[in-house]
Parts: sequence; C-alpha cells; structure tokens
Amino acid sequence: MRTLVQRVVVTILSTMFLAAAGALGGYLLGRAFALQQAEARLDHYANRILLESVTSSAESRAVLATMNTSSYDFCSDTEIEYFRQLIFQSQFLKAAGRMRDGRIACSTTSGRSELAQAQNIPTIARQDGTKIYKNIPAFRLDDQNVISVQLGNSFIVYNPYTMASLVMPPMHFTETAIDASTGKGGLLLGELPKVDQKILMQDGKVQIGDTLYATRCATNGATCMTAYISIPDALALTRSYAMVFLALGALSGSLVGVLFPMLYSRNKSVEQQLLRALRADALTVVYQPIVDLSTGQIVETEALVRWTDEYKNAVSPEVFVKIAEERGFVGQITKLVVRHALRDFGATMRARSTFRVNVNIAASDLADSDFLPMVDKALSDAEVSPRNLGIEITESYTARQQVARNTILRLRRQGHYVAIDDFGTGYSSLAYLHDLSVDAIKIDKAFTKAIGTDAVTVSILPQILTMAETLKLRVVVEGIETKAQADYFAASNQRIHAQGWLFGRPVPARVFLQLLDEEEARLSKVQEEEMPAGATAVAF
Ligand code: C2E
Ligand code: MG
Ligand code: MG
Repeated sequence: MRTLVQRVVVTILSTMFLAAAGALGGYLLGRAFALQQAEARLDHYANRILLESVTSSAESRAVLATMNTSSYDFCSDTEIEYFRQLIFQSQFLKAAGRMRDGRIACSTTSGRSELAQAQNIPTIARQDGTKIYKNIPAFRLDDQNVISVQLGNSFIVYNPYTMASLVMPPMHFTETAIDASTGKGGLLLGELPKVDQKILMQDGKVQIGDTLYATRCATNGATCMTAYISIPDALALTRSYAMVFLALGALSGSLVGVLFPMLYSRNKSVEQQLLRALRADALTVVYQPIVDLSTGQIVETEALVRWTDEYKNAVSPEVFVKIAEERGFVGQITKLVVRHALRDFGATMRARSTFRVNVNIAASDLADSDFLPMVDKALSDAEVSPRNLGIEITESYTARQQVARNTILRLRRQGHYVAIDDFGTGYSSLAYLHDLSVDAIKIDKAFTKAIGTDAVTVSILPQILTMAETLKLRVVVEGIETKAQADYFAASNQRIHAQGWLFGRPVPARVFLQLLDEEEARLSKVQEEEMPAGATAVAF
C-alpha cells in the first residue's frame, strides 16, 4: 500500500524529473533559437563590413584613376603635394605614391626618397591591372595589416585602422579578394579560417565544427567578407534567449510535473483509495430523518454513505459513488450500506414494523444478478422484513432498461418499498411512471429550492403532486430547509413525507437512534397525558 509519504516523494521526484526534462528541452530549444539569432547577427555583421570594404575600394579606384591622370611631373613636389591633398580628402586612405621598376619612387609619407618595394609578388593581381599587396614594410603601422593597391604606376595605402575599427569580438572577419579571371581567392584581411576556400568565396551561412560562418560577397564578385564566431561565444552572446527558454522549459516542465500527475492520477488514486477503504470497511453510513409532514414524526430514514480519503478529505458521495459506478464496483458500496443499515437498525426494524431505512442503489445494481440474492441474504441473516428496507433509485436509471424495470418489479413483489429519487431532474416525461411500478417519488431538492421564486420549476410542482395522487404514489420532498418550504407542501391535501435540514441533518446511527428514543418518549408522554387514567400507552 502506498503511503502518503510515498506518494509525495513520487510526485516530487516526477516533478523534478519533468522539470529537468522541460529545462533540457527548453535549453535545446533556446540553444537552437540563440544560434539562429547569432547566425542572423553574423550575417548582418558580414554585410556591414562588406559595405565598408566596397565603399573603400570604390574610393581607392577613384583616387588611383585620378593619380594616373595627373598632369604634374612624375614625382614632382607639386605632384606629391597633389597626392597629399587627395589623401587628405579621402575617407579610407592613408598614403599614396608612385612606383617605378618595382620600387616606390615617391609617396605622400616619404616624399621623393626611393623606398625598396618589399614584395614584388602581389597577393592578388587582377586582370584590370590592379595589384593588391599586403604589408609593404615601408608602410607598416603597428601590427596592423596594411593593404596597398597599385594601378598603373600609382599606388594607394588603405588606412588599416578603418577596418580594424570594424572588429567586433567575439565576432571576427576575414576578407577574401577574388581574381575574377582565375577565380582564385587570396586572404586580404584577418586570419585565414581553416575551412574550405569555397565557403569564403560565396554567399551563405554554415556551421563547421565549433564555428559559425556567414559570407557576403560584393556584387562584382571582387571581394567577399566572411564573419565567423565560435559556438560557445555565439551562445554567450545570446545567452539571454537560452536562459529564457531554459526557465520557461523548467517552468512548464514543473507545471506538467505537478498538474499532470494530479489530474491524471486523481481518479485513479481515488479509485485505489476507495477500494482500499471498502476492503477495510472504512466507509461509514449516516442517516437522515424523513418525517411525516402532517405530524412531524420520523417515519423513515435515508442511509447516506460517507467516505474520508487517505488525505483526510471528506469526499462527496456524488463524486466517489460516480467513480465506483464508472469503474464497476458500486455494488460493493451498496452491499456495505445494506450491511451497515441492517447492523445499525436491525433491532429497531424488528421492533417497529413500519419504520423503514432507505438505501440508494445504482443502475448497475439493478442489472447485477447478485444484487437481489445479496439483499435477501442480508435481510434473512438480520431477520428483518423486506418492507423495512426501502430502495431509492435515481429517476434517469429506471426508465432506460427493461432489466431495471424487472428488478424493480421483483423488489416490490418481495415487499420492498421502491422510490424514484431526484424526481423531476432526469427523465423528462411523467408518463413513464405509469409503466414503472414504484411506491413513491422523491421530488428533487431543486424544486424545493425554487419555492418562493418565480422559477418555472415551481409551476410544475402542482402537476407533479396531482399526478402522484392519481397514480397513488407517495410523495417525499427532498431538501426542505425552511419553514416556508415545509408550509408549501403541508398545504397539500396529500400525506407528504419530507426530508431536509429543517427536520434533521444526516447523523450517525447512534445519534439517530437517540432521536428516535427521544421522539418515542415524547409521544408516550403526550399519549399518557391524553389517555384516561389506567389506560396503557401503545408503543410506536
Ligand atoms: P440523494 O440520494 O438525493 O440524497 C440526498 C442528498 O441531499 C444527500 O446528500 C443529503 O445530505 C442532501 N440533503 C438532505 N437534506 C438536504 C437539505 O435540506 N438541503 C440540501 N442542500 N441538501 C440536503 P449527500 O449525502 O451528499 O448525497 C448525495 C447523493 O449521493 C445522494 O443523493 C445519492 O444520489 C448519492 N449517494 C449517497 N449515498 C449513497 C449510497 O449509499 N449509494 C449510492 N448509490 N448513492 C449514494
Ligand atoms: Mg437518495
Ligand atoms: Mg435525491
């Protein structure tokens, strides 16, 4: 048997498990989303630096074209001054000059003193005559990558700080210059990532190993920018997304962990608890008085089952009887109630032939072949007459099946009193009462509640009473809580039985028997007072 502690532990563990699974799911989802965000950011970054590169190379081409058409003497002071003006006006260039025989003839920085050309082999030599050099020693600036471009006998030097200012760690970039004639690429800026060169020379986004790459190429195909970032860095950059998903995942996991077992196992666990309670005879039965409205005397009682679950919650019979019905073991409840009723009231029933205890039975009892033998045996064991044990059957059950009608007939033939419970709520037609052989109808408390209001239900009450009178059916009214409600029915010329808080709540047998004794004593006293001296009072 699972104890409460075990159940709590299982719930906590399963909640923790689902929270962890939810967190993991949330983390994976968040990670995928964060990576997608990082990719988009990287792509945007590649675009930005490409734009910078395209703009700067357009400027360099324009400046080179201007230099090559200079009308000043080659490397004259005036020409150098002219070049200085051009550089001063430029946004991306740092220096410019002339070349002769592979050597620098003059430049805006060194004047006319000739400087050796360090690299005769350009990184890229384009078909249009443009030669791109990297890191000419004469123009070295700190540790920066200095790019020079030569066209004709003019050259310019890019300002390395312009591109350096575009570095946005943890994102990095690399620029690949492409020679359109050969289709070959050469690294211009940045470190060369260890990837297939193709990735650096065509638009696209890709993840290779632990790194994300986004490449954007200029429309003329002359240069491509590849931005890249390591996945841990990308995740760190977009950590907030992953964290939000992680938190949401954990939260939804926990909610599922708490709610799902609660909802899913609620009925199941109630069922298990109920079965255990039945085995342990832990259900109790209380008894509510039913009085004769004209005299106020208790004439019968309704046995109502009660159950307190393992969490000490009193569960309504409307809930647990329904569960027992659905799971097919309501017969066990009926048996328990019959047994308790006969044990509690056996002596009273034997002593008072007109006193009746009514038990509620379910639809499945009517169809259960063990039901009638069970009742017979219980009655004969207790030496109680069938007329002392009434049967209440909810209205909607009765009309449905022939087997129900047959069982009702047999019950009545054996001498049981049979009442249709909750009358007026179930089967809509009153006509079927003709076909059913019953002793009484118990008018549902919804009608009683409506008395004094202008609800339609009240207007039907006279019809029900008239019909019951015509069919010679006893009327029992449920749910009488106020004197006004009692008076309404007392005004009828029929002999009506009444049940409700006004006359007494359901109480344990011991209390009920005391009520009966007190009532008997009161009656005897009244009779004694009314009887002439010497006569003997007759027992109830
Ligand atoms: P029911 O057979 O119609 O029982 C009458 C219900 O009305 C009882 O509720 C009773 O406590 C309540 N009641 C009595 N007087 C008043 C009143 O003045 N005002 C209000 N508001 N309520 C009043 P309870 O005990 O909660 O039972 C609910 C239903 O559960 C019963 O309705 C019956 O359908 C079912 N039930 C109870 N015991 C058993 C049982 O042993 N076997 C089966 N099959 N069903 C049972
Ligand atoms: Mg009832
Ligand atoms: Mg009822």
